[in-house]
Amino acid sequence: MIGRYQPFHKGHLEVIKNILKEVDDLIIGIGSAQVSHTLDNPFTAGERMTMISNALKEEGLAERCCYIIPIPDVWNNALWVNHVKSLTPHFDAAYTGNVLALRLLREGGIDARIQPLFDRAKYSGTEIRRRMLKGEDWESLVPPAVVKVVKSIKGVERLKDITKSDKITYLEPGDASP
Ligand code: NAD
Repeated sequence: MIGRYQPFHKGHLEVIKNILKEVDDLIIGIGSAQVSHTLDNPFTAGERMTMISNALKEEGLAERCCYIIPIPDVWNNALWVNHVKSLTPHFDAAYTGNVLALRLLREGGIDARIQPLFDRAKYSGTEIRRRMLKGEDWESLVPPAVVKVVKSIKGVERLKDITKSDKITYLEPGDASP
């Protein structure tokens, strides 16, 4: 299953549970692994890996999802499927709801499958990041383990700083620093 997981939320977890009804073991690919500290992609690949790993342990699913692999994007879409294959152990099927990823996987001869979306209006990275910025409840949309990781890295403060950074570039001594 490939995704950006910015952040990992209960919709992702639900999909994983459904996929595990169809397969023996699941490899989780963390896409856009090179991107972090942006509004759409605030968390690093390492932070996302910790979120997913801790959430899976919390759910007793870690043993069946034993590979969590960061996958940086490549500049050439036609090369992406081979790039993914080069970074992962062998897989028999791939799961994604992303239109481009689905097309590329199928054109690459992969058995690419779609899982139903779970309350997408709420369980979406965009909505969670919006709530983080607005000071609204985001905690109920992610597994408890993810709340802990986001708090431990001061993730909400990071996101708020990123929105400011196109207006304020430099801090003075005494200004609030990260
Ligand atoms: P995402 O985190 O938004 O979603 C991950 C998966 O979870 C998706 O398949 C989606 O269907 C599912 N999902 C999300 N919300 C859900 C919900 N509420 N209920 C059920 N399922 C839900 O990640 P994404 O954007 O789909 O990730 C695709 C990745 O593939 C990106 O990192 C992208 O850059 C990468 N990619 C890279 C290239 C390239 O490098 N050239 C090409 C294609 C794709």
